[in-house]
Amino acid sequence: MSIKDTQALIEDMMQRLYEDDSFLPEESGQTRKQFFQSSTEILTTSDKIIKSSIRVSRDNREIERIPAYRVQHNNIAGFYKGGIRFSELVSEEEVENLAVLMTLKNALHELPYGGAKGGVLVQPKDYSVRELNMISKKYVQRFTTDIGPTHDIPAPDMGTNEQTMDWMTGEYKTINPGRNYLGAFTGKSVANGGAKGRREATGRGVYHSYEWLVDDWARGHTKEESIPEGPHRMQAAHLRKLVEKADKKEPIRIAVQGFGNVGSVAAEMAYHSQRLLHCVTAVSDHGVTLYHREGLDIPSLVSYQHTHHQLPSTEEELQEAGVEAEIFRPEHIVTMDVNVLIFAAVEDQVLDHNKEEVKADVLVEGANAPIDGAADRWLHENGKVVIPDILANAGGVLVSYLEWKQDRITQLFTEEEVLADMERQMEQSCEKVFGSYFGEGLSSIRNTCYIEALKRLFTLLYRHGKLF
Ligand code: NAD
Repeated sequence: MSIKDTQALIEDMMQRLYEDDSFLPEESGQTRKQFFQSSTEILTTSDKIIKSSIRVSRDNREIERIPAYRVQHNNIAGFYKGGIRFSELVSEEEVENLAVLMTLKNALHELPYGGAKGGVLVQPKDYSVRELNMISKKYVQRFTTDIGPTHDIPAPDMGTNEQTMDWMTGEYKTINPGRNYLGAFTGKSVANGGAKGRREATGRGVYHSYEWLVDDWARGHTKEESIPEGPHRMQAAHLRKLVEKADKKEPIRIAVQGFGNVGSVAAEMAYHSQRLLHCVTAVSDHGVTLYHREGLDIPSLVSYQHTHHQLPSTEEELQEAGVEAEIFRPEHIVTMDVNVLIFAAVEDQVLDHNKEEVKADVLVEGANAPIDGAADRWLHENGKVVIPDILANAGGVLVSYLEWKQDRITQLFTEEEVLADMERQMEQSCEKVFGSYFGEGLSSIRNTCYIEALKRLFTLLYRHGKLF
């Protein structure tokens, strides 16, 4: 989904809310119209787009200028919050789209945060540790007046991790002596005030949203006669098929695209799950797709990835990893014959040209925006179950909230408390979305997520008197 797709969907869903007399019945006529026009305009525009460039001296003494961004989309629900991405695909449009998705995600999960995002146009694997340290510190120097524990709180995203957050926190502390610095960033190392379990939180949450949908929700809520005809019924049938597989102890075939922070954890969760039996037949990263009919040895791949920062991509490397697999091109994973496909890499993986080749019945958006707007509508109409990004990948920000709270009250939560809280909140949000979607026959799972998020954002804008 591009920024244009996201904005078009916001406009569409605001129009539906406007036409729904049961939402805000106290406002009607011209005033109602004006309030909805104002809120649509506010939510399809970003509050602030900051573009800068970071000057880095490379190890070979060359000087490089690297574009860097911070987009603050909206803070009606609380302080701006959103990750910082290091990637060679970063652009202003991409960062803005991700910032809008953060506003919607935080509203959907009822977190007291608005939405923001940052990005730096670098491919981290082409830079040394010293160079990455320099880039991280310079990012804080450039954006220091715009970030802070009660204004805009960054976290890791693609290409960044707890080390990046620790460096950034250290730089923020140096620039702002005497100020609360721990709450300025989340996703830090545990040694530096991070929450236990934060590193795994997004991947765990992604997996949990899917497992909960199949193993808890679908069991009691997908009886054919209670489901509206059309896509809803096809989707319910796909979910029932997975429940039947689980009951017969037949493995569910699952593939995971992307093997970084989110993907490797989601793959491990599927591999080790006691509740649903899985065969993780394929995983991929930027360089390769690995496939094994009987299932891949995920723990060995995780340990190879920890040392080499990528999956094995040649016969020799597979041998070194002790893993048996067939080797395919990276993009091959999207169209593999599996029951469930988890996206945990980059945007725009299902597009017009490959949408009809997707074989998985359940698609889980661990990555942000992996499915293009038109392809998304096609998949829905053809009965695929898509668990949308703003619902599925919120585990990270849910735990970030606990980290931010813990840094303010200086009381540490245990890992069990952190993960139990995250899973409980994921379940509440999933229950809200799937209950309304199947129960009320709403137009798509993604539309239901947007409607729930927009109801909250509209209500806050209305209560704060921002719509006149
Ligand atoms: P990461 O940098 O740790 O890993 C990214 C993975 O994707 C790597 O394995 C990389 O090789 C792979 N990849 C890159 N391009 C690819 C391609 N074209 N095809 C296949 N694989 C490709 O990043 P991450 O933190 O795991 O984030 C992955 C996705 O999850 C991103 O979309 C990110 O926005 C989203 N996300 C992350 C978090 C978080 O807490 N880290 C939170 C919410 C959403």
